[in-house]
Amino acid sequence: MRLLIVGPQGAGKGTQASLLAEHLGIPHISTGDIFRANVGAGTELGVLAKTYMDAGDLVPDEVTVAMVAARFDEPDAGRGFLLDGFPRTVPQADKLGEILIERGEDVDKVILLEVPDEILLERMLARGRADDTAEAISRRLELYHTETKPLLDFYAGKLVEIDGVGEIDEVQQRILTALGH
Ligand code: AMP
Repeated sequence: MRLLIVGPQGAGKGTQASLLAEHLGIPHISTGDIFRANVGAGTELGVLAKTYMDAGDLVPDEVTVAMVAARFDEPDAGRGFLLDGFPRTVPQADKLGEILIERGEDVDKVILLEVPDEILLERMLARGRADDTAEAISRRLELYHTETKPLLDFYAGKLVEIDGVGEIDEVQQRILTALGH
């Protein structure tokens, strides 16, 4: 199964994606996690990504797309994947489509995790990640509205809308039910 998970920052995408991927036996591929691992290890990619991440801006597409394509070439991605944090823009979705066509693959479903703004803000403040400054939070929220939301039309026929408010297990169960598991 080839899945995407989309939602604003603080919606619980990472938590839900990791549980779901484990349940389905597919890799959880989070572009944010890969960037953070590179920042932590001080790689060239990490040094480049860090300035964008600290500002809440998007890392340039040529870097991000190449990183995702390379990840797909690892053997565990042959069984499918759950992509978290990519694509975040319509141009990235176009690129993903091209990469998958070359592989004879396609996206099966797109999970949209919905949480109202006031709850998002509470969760963001509790999370305390290095790039959770007030400026970066508001920049990511702005980018979600302008750049990521158009993806919902792009993937209209594949969208699975999930209420992301509730306990972790409860939300996970909603996702599994919606996917027919
Ligand atoms: P996340 O963990 O998904 O919130 O991502 C953290 C940061 O990594 C973002 O604020 C961006 O700077 C960068 N990032 C993650 N995914 C992408 C992407 N698909 N395109 C560009 N930048 C990304």
